[in-house]
Amino acid sequence: MLGKIVKGIAGFYYVHVVESGVYECKAKGIFRKEKIKPLVGDNVEMDVIDEKEKTGNIVRICPRKNELIRPAVANIDQALIVFAVTKPKPHLNLLDRFLIMMESKDIPVTLCFNKKDLAADEEWRGLKEVYETCGYPVVFTSALKEENITKIRRILEGKTTALAGPSGVGKSSLINLLEPGANMETGEISRKIERGRHTTRHSELFAIGGETYIMDTPGFGSLYVNDFEKEDLKYYFREFEPYEGNCKFQGCSHIHEPGCGVKDALETGKIPKSRYENYLELYRELEQKQRY
Ligand code: GDP
Ligand code: ZN
Repeated sequence: MLGKIVKGIAGFYYVHVVESGVYECKAKGIFRKEKIKPLVGDNVEMDVIDEKEKTGNIVRICPRKNELIRPAVANIDQALIVFAVTKPKPHLNLLDRFLIMMESKDIPVTLCFNKKDLAADEEWRGLKEVYETCGYPVVFTSALKEENITKIRRILEGKTTALAGPSGVGKSSLINLLEPGANMETGEISRKIERGRHTTRHSELFAIGGETYIMDTPGFGSLYVNDFEKEDLKYYFREFEPYEGNCKFQGCSHIHEPGCGVKDALETGKIPKSRYENYLELYRELEQKQRY
């Protein structure tokens, strides 16, 4: 039987099979034979031991599409980054960190700004402008007014999606709308993320119908951009790319060099100011770290 590991605790793996539910499994022999440890997100072949007790044994791990280390998870198709348009006001530096992290792992991202019902037109238009200029798909939702929920459902359908975002923005509310059976208490995901920050970071997938999975991402709660060199940071700001060819110096960092195409684009408003400022801030942070 084929299924997907949705949770792993103390040597047990919980395998979700679309037609028949979740089985508690061991992975006897897999490690010895294949020298790999099963991960949450793995698609696996399982032998049922007891159908009534819902127990089984994992006999094979299907080849992985990708693998993240922190949080430890396999086969992530995309990320949905959720912020609120307001209340809380989006912390764009944090948002850009999430984006950079996904860019560095080549994971496609959709941005979701929730609580549109609370926002003035110019608030959400500003956000739309900035992030669409950078080439990201942006969806505005209201969990309260149930606005654009079908759009989100369509984006998630049939995929495994890492859900990321600060607490209080409406992640649990959105999941409850997508999957009424999930019975997610409001704030539940955020509390898990909070807890995950201080304790072990185990990941968990929620099946929200068919082969659609959402990953609650405790490890994304605290985000350190220190997995790469400051020289590489610019590659994760995709809106810089069309202008880099105009830089006079090869290897231009777009900071202090004269004749910089990126800075020209910033001057003429083609690159959003907030993004460039966050680039500078992150660059300085990486510079500090690399000094020690
Ligand atoms: P989480 O911490 O990201 O899971 O956020 P919750 O789903 O717990 O929502 C935090 C608070 O915002 C709760 O009081 C929700 O009722 C409220 N909320 C969630 N979505 C919306 C929305 O679209 N509009 C408004 N006005 N409030 C919302
Ligand atoms: Zn430059």
